[in-house]
Amino acid sequence: VDFDDTPEDAAFRAEWRAWLAANATPVPEGSFRGGLVAPGGNDAEVVAQAKDWQRRLAAAGWGAISWPREHGGRAATPMQAYIYADELAAYAVPADLYSIGLGMIGPTLMAWGSEQQKQTYLPAMLDGSEIWCQLWSEPGAGSDIASLTTRAEYDEQRDGWVVNGQKVWTSGAQWSHWGLAIVRTDPAAERHRGLSAFVIDMHAPGVDVRPLREMSGGSTFNEVFLTDVTVPAASLVGPAGEGWTVALTTMAHERLTAGLMGLASMKTGPLVDLARSTARNGRPAIEDRVLRSRVIDVVIRHRVLELTILRTVSAIARSGVPGPESSTLKLAWSHVGSRYAELALDLLGAAGALGGSSAPFGGQLATAYSFAPSFHIGGGTDEVQRNVIGEKVLGLPREPRPLG
Ligand SMILES: Cc1cc2nc3c(=O)[nH]c(=O)nc-3n(C[C@H](O)[C@H](O)[C@H](O)COP(=O)(O)OP(=O)(O)OC[C@H]3O[C@@H](n4cnc5c(N)ncnc54)[C@H](O)[C@@H]3O)c2cc1C
Repeated sequence: VDFDDTPEDAAFRAEWRAWLAANATPVPEGSFRGGLVAPGGNDAEVVAQAKDWQRRLAAAGWGAISWPREHGGRAATPMQAYIYADELAAYAVPADLYSIGLGMIGPTLMAWGSEQQKQTYLPAMLDGSEIWCQLWSEPGAGSDIASLTTRAEYDEQRDGWVVNGQKVWTSGAQWSHWGLAIVRTDPAAERHRGLSAFVIDMHAPGVDVRPLREMSGGSTFNEVFLTDVTVPAASLVGPAGEGWTVALTTMAHERLTAGLMGLASMKTGPLVDLARSTARNGRPAIEDRVLRSRVIDVVIRHRVLELTILRTVSAIARSGVPGPESSTLKLAWSHVGSRYAELALDLLGAAGALGGSSAPFGGQLATAYSFAPSFHIGGGTDEVQRNVIGEKVLGLPREPRPLG
């Protein structure tokens, strides 16, 4: 891996940095960036800010830099996607509502969608006017997504599919116009073969979205009940029965997106500053041996995350698509993210548990702390990432699988 920017990458960085300096507000000195501390999608105000930010990004050509030019992107290299996230970390931009659409579902539609689907959905995804969600997990199917039971049956009279079932943990569903769903279309087929991918209109009759309350106080994800929802035949993404292969495309992008978003959401400088400015036993906390070694641990892990991203983007530059190595990235990010939030709260001591605007950092670190356990679950749990790394990267023997 070459760590220095090439002349093209340096020019890209300079252009992006200049645009940010002219259009975004830097994270205030001694403060934490919103991405780590305030998970997005909580209220209408956050959504409105995020929409406006995405609209401005898209208008200036920064809306989805990795997308090909024909779809309004910049055809940025994976290294430039890293640079983009690296520079963004210094700015207090609105919470991210678009990473599922732009980072995961957009690339999936480009790989598997019909021409009509690409023309219909990608422009409004890019300019932020339409938000997307990922309708995969169910009460009985998360890590083992192929065990899902939501059904779609073809109905000739309606010239469409009729979908019935329940999804859960659907991030941003309450704000979404569209969802990419994986459902079972052939119950008789081997379980990975009986799945298909569909675009679901989140405002169609029979779609009932119920926000869930998280322990961090927000409602970023939802239950989604699907009752006799008619889905036009043209909303099938990829061939019927190939939903699993479509899902693998989304998953590979998901892990990369999570890592890059993680990078964009935190810098370790504010944590070190906090350790210098808070006291432990009458002395700066940074002088406490245990706390200092925890600060060092987070700083090293963060550096390892950056290097892991660089390694992953180098691999993608060669292969063209994110591979199973993205799992190392997701795993590295979940650990640095949760240790960072835990340490920040510990440094604040009892005051860290306070919420509300008069609490230290507006109570954001308490929110981050209570949201952090989800880093190890969303986008595939740590254990599942370790399985992928063991089997697909290191070539170790397969873990036992459920029957079917
Ligand atoms: C913040 C957040 C956002 C999310 N957003 C979305 C979304 O937008 N759309 C969506 O569809 N889903 C979403 N999810 C759901 C997420 O994908 C699932 O929670 C995740 O895949 C785990 O599934 P599960 O919760 O059913 O747990 P389970 O799969 O039941 O796992 C339970 C435990 O068993 C372990 N385990 C399971 N299988 C194995 C195995 N083979 N080997 C070793 N250990 C194993 C797991 O690691 C875990 O510890 C989100 C989750 C979170 C936390």
